Amino acid sequence: MENIRFEVATGKVLKLMKDENLIYLWDIMKRTALTSTETTEVLDSLIAKGLVSKVADYEYRLVTEKQVEIPTKLSIHSYMHCGMCLDELPENTSPREWSQLEVGFTSLGLQVWCKRHEVNVCHINFEGVQHPANMETK
Ligand SMILES: [Zn+2]
Repeated sequence: MENIRFEVATGKVLKLMKDENLIYLWDIMKRTALTSTETTEVLDSLIAKGLVSKVADYEYRLVTEKQVEIPTKLSIHSYMHCGMCLDELPENTSPREWSQLEVGFTSLGLQVWCKRHEVNVCHINFEGVQHPANMETK
């Protein structure tokens, strides 16, 4: 397994696995025996160099070439619909206007739900994998 080594000022080596999705601050502290302040300083310098991105508080991700930017612009090429809603679609009404969908996270992954018919439209199982996501509005 390929990994990337970062020489830390104190002579300690920080090794991050290339295919590691998320890196937690305490994991890095455990590996390097650095204090939380030293670890944060190291991570801040790696973030400044574009080698690491901060995902959330205490969560980081190694920036690799295979990571793609997730756009915030409308990128849907195939819309999901409730089949029953489409069957009842009034004349001169677009599916977009008629749609009554809710979207949310579940313990398995992500679910699309029809409010009008109180039925499942789609429920995706992430199978325990954390996927990159862009939660920004623009
Ligand atoms: Zn429906």
